[in-house]
Amino acid sequence: MTVDAVTHEILAIEQYDERLDAMAGVEFYAGIMTAGFVNAHCHVELACLQGAIPPGGGFAAFGSAVGAKRAEFTSSQMLHAIRKADRTMYEEGVDAVGDIVNDDLSFAIKRESAIRYRSFAEVFGLRASNEERCRALLAHPETSLTPHSTYSVQDASFRRVCTERGDAPLSIHFLESEGEEQLFRGEGAMHEWYTRVGFECDFLHYGSPARRIIESVPHDRSVLLVHNCYLSEQTIDALLTHFSVPIYWVLCPRSNRYISGIEPQSVAMLRQKGCNICIGTDSPASNDSLSIIEELKCFRGIPLEELLGWATHNGAAALGYGDTLGTIAVGRRCGIVVISGVDFSTMTLTERASARRIL
Ligand SMILES: [Zn+2]
Repeated sequence: MTVDAVTHEILAIEQYDERLDAMAGVEFYAGIMTAGFVNAHCHVELACLQGAIPPGGGFAAFGSAVGAKRAEFTSSQMLHAIRKADRTMYEEGVDAVGDIVNDDLSFAIKRESAIRYRSFAEVFGLRASNEERCRALLAHPETSLTPHSTYSVQDASFRRVCTERGDAPLSIHFLESEGEEQLFRGEGAMHEWYTRVGFECDFLHYGSPARRIIESVPHDRSVLLVHNCYLSEQTIDALLTHFSVPIYWVLCPRSNRYISGIEPQSVAMLRQKGCNICIGTDSPASNDSLSIIEELKCFRGIPLEELLGWATHNGAAALGYGDTLGTIAVGRRCGIVVISGVDFSTMTLTERASARRIL
């Protein structure tokens, strides 16, 4: 491979020829070479919370702990943690991140970073909406609004954010917990929690999280649905029927394991229907690291080539970066990553597999 040293554009890809052994400037690596990764779902602003919330507490407990724990850190501690997370992701081969934001803390670091960030300012609030505060974040580059989820935003705000024109995708937390679907039927843990604290929802008439999306999001708006732990076949089919553009189904297996001890059950169904699966780490608060390779190790029995597609070109397409990132090809400007620790007899990642950026 020949790469422009300044622009990082791939100029040529050639077959190995032993004459190369004697040529100056040629480097050899053992392992699998791949395009740089795309972390399709992260909250890098929560980097300071790595290890701060114990695993296994469940979805509701995790949600309420995030705000309380974050208040224990100073701005400079938060910035230090964000910088470190950004650097580690880069060294481990991440080229781009779909990053959820609530405030402007992370933007100065992201602007300087070698990683390309698409930031989603998440609108939520059942009593008072943070929509106006989110709008102030639109001054930052590659930043757009998204509703946080189908259970945390009232109807008018959800519809407004989803129908505002622009070419940025939406990134919606979707069916991360069982309670999301149950809420629309007036039962389950989320319904009980909302009743206890007096939250009223003006959107339950949609009947389900999927129906709410179908009736609120235009069919040609690109959308990332994040988590997908409790997908049914009918839900997938209804969404695929509604949208005329690809849906990106982002899986964050280690976060689901960390928070709730669950595995996304939908992988086989999504693969069978040819859905575009992407990989996210979710926030450092609900993960031991922001390593894409560690996420991929969660998917046993799936061909490595397919897994790498989820972590590279699917993620790049989801964020609208498919023209430059996600694929090693002449004219692209993706990073180049070497994965070591591959069992070549089965073409699978071993437990000690790791990724390292070489370009
Ligand atoms: Zn998230």
